[in-house]
Amino acid sequence: MTQRFDFIAVGGGIVGAATAYQYAQRHPGARIAILEKEKRPAAHQTGRNSGVIHSGLYYAPGSLKAQTCLKGYAQLLDFCEAHQVRYEVCGKIVVATNEEESNRLEILQERGRKNGLAGLEFLDSKQTLEVEPHIQAFRALWVPQTGIVDYPGMTEALIQRALASKGSLHLETQVISMERKGDITTLKSHQGDLFEAPLVVVCAGLQSDRMAQMDGLKSAVRIVPFRGDYYDLTPAAAHKVRNLVYPVADPNFPFLGVHFTRMVDGGVECGPNAVFSFAREGYHKTAFDLRDSASALSFGGTWRLFSQHWRYGLGEYERAFSKAKFLQALQKMMPGLTMEDIVPGRAGIRAQALTPRGKLVDDFVIEKGAAAVHVLNAPSPAATASLAIGEEILTRLGL
Ligand SMILES: Cc1cc2nc3c(=O)[nH]c(=O)nc-3n(C[C@H](O)[C@H](O)[C@H](O)COP(=O)(O)OP(=O)(O)OC[C@H]3O[C@@H](n4cnc5c(N)ncnc54)[C@H](O)[C@@H]3O)c2cc1C
Repeated sequence: MTQRFDFIAVGGGIVGAATAYQYAQRHPGARIAILEKEKRPAAHQTGRNSGVIHSGLYYAPGSLKAQTCLKGYAQLLDFCEAHQVRYEVCGKIVVATNEEESNRLEILQERGRKNGLAGLEFLDSKQTLEVEPHIQAFRALWVPQTGIVDYPGMTEALIQRALASKGSLHLETQVISMERKGDITTLKSHQGDLFEAPLVVVCAGLQSDRMAQMDGLKSAVRIVPFRGDYYDLTPAAAHKVRNLVYPVADPNFPFLGVHFTRMVDGGVECGPNAVFSFAREGYHKTAFDLRDSASALSFGGTWRLFSQHWRYGLGEYERAFSKAKFLQALQKMMPGLTMEDIVPGRAGIRAQALTPRGKLVDDFVIEKGAAAVHVLNAPSPAATASLAIGEEILTRLGL
């Protein structure tokens, strides 16, 4: 069966949903399809993240990440307000536990200021206790703009609005090939169905490099999966965190370090760590997928990354398999936290592009292939930035 559309988004995560929504806003009445291989939208990164609305504190001024995070932040708040998606701007603190981290906190504050954040404020240890009574800080930075949101709920709302006119959502539809003939791209699903459109955007997260290869794109980067494990604070311990508490991140990595996050539906999560995963979509600690492992371990960049950062990697592995080590990382900020306060929670896997030289690609990457536009690197804060990433893609397509 062949079905014809004006626009197709491959991937029912928040980036695919937001791009389809932005297209629908610009082209009311257009026939739009979203193709998603799972039984429900937001099954991977979008439904397994920390649920934080990032303010733009961390990102290199002028980078695509910084630009789309700041723009996407405002668009996200407007969208959630208009469509009754649960969110709250509660603010966060970034906690320095010694002088060295305190110096890095200043660099962070400067970066945030350059990105246009207002209201950033240093807190001494006493002021920190007023904000978070269980946190012991050498110094902290108060970031008022940070918030929390229901990303799966937002994805559902985006899909509903994008497809409201003449659209359709095709679940359990895995795209296995794509071809451009003249002005039309034809996508084939694993059931053999054909989907045609002049415009196709692929937002396939953990599978994005494979989809780009399918389209003949000779991108040098490879997706390497990094699992993040969470613990939950028990209901009895949940009062120990009021809002969001982050450590000062290691500047060599795009990961933010294990943090405390109050979620929109109640409860507090602690995490995520960042460990190399032997399966792109396997969420158990010992999950293994031969194709995924071969893809990562036959790539020179992976070994260069390992050899450059083995000490960091080892620490993360220890935290993955030892509750005591995970607790130690959290106790740096909250010395009173005990083994009884935390229980194992869920896990998410980050799709992180890696260069052949072993460098983790920091910025978002969007490239055009013969048949489609591909989002090749959309790690955090791409959920926050999703509406602006969608706009950016459409602008690049001249739409
Ligand atoms: C542990 C963790 C914590 C994070 N915390 C935050 C946070 O607090 N705030 C924030 O802003 N960002 C956060 N992020 C990042 C954020 O979740 C991602 O940047 C964002 O969800 C990316 O969305 P996406 O749509 O590109 O990818 P995904 O949500 O992974 O969606 C891609 C979709 O494509 C589908 N797909 C793949 N291949 C095919 C195919 N061949 N055919 C059809 N469908 C296909 C997949 O099934 C999937 O549903 C976090 C990420 C992780 C993993």
